[in-house]
Amino acid sequence: MSAVISRKEAKSLRMRWYFTGLPCKYGHVRLRLTNNGACIECSQRLKRISAEKYRINNQQKVKQAFSNWYKKNRENILEIKATKRKLNPEIARSKDRNYYAQNSAKCKARQARYKKLNRAKFTAAESKRRAAKLNACPKWADTTKLNRVYTECPKGYTVDHIVPLQSKIVCGLHVHWNLQYLLPSDNFRKGNRMWEHHPAKISK
Ligand SMILES: [Zn+2]
Repeated sequence: MSAVISRKEAKSLRMRWYFTGLPCKYGHVRLRLTNNGACIECSQRLKRISAEKYRINNQQKVKQAFSNWYKKNRENILEIKATKRKLNPEIARSKDRNYYAQNSAKCKARQARYKKLNRAKFTAAESKRRAAKLNACPKWADTTKLNRVYTECPKGYTVDHIVPLQSKIVCGLHVHWNLQYLLPSDNFRKGNRMWEHHPAKISK
């Protein structure tokens, strides 16, 4: 604990704080500010309360300030986060789980928004997963060209495998030259049954 020094003495020594050894009216035996005699604990509490009040009364302003700060420091923040994650992957995962449990509605909405904005990416990934499951994705497939087919898919069309990945007589490959754009209605009509060089006799 600090040595006792009166406010007067502290003033003459140009010290910011003094110490009486006596409790303030709220019972804190702490340092006191020389210029107004306030106890350090009480003034910290007041500061916290007024900051909280400010946050509540100026939510928009605070949000904006935070967003500005984040934009300015985004790279650094992300780098720090990534480093922390690398150092403690378990802690990061459990934090993720907790956050998700407490904000599941928000998370789901964000995922849906992301999915909507990156539809092509998701469709490409989905097709790739399906193809991998069927062993239809050869190692030599040109992934860039494959993905481009999905990202350049015209609005209203779906990406379709010309020779289907799964059919009764043959299984097509998940490669860019086996993809075509179809209207969903045509795709539905085509099903997994017919393609251009489909052997006519076996067709169902
Ligand atoms: Zn106090």
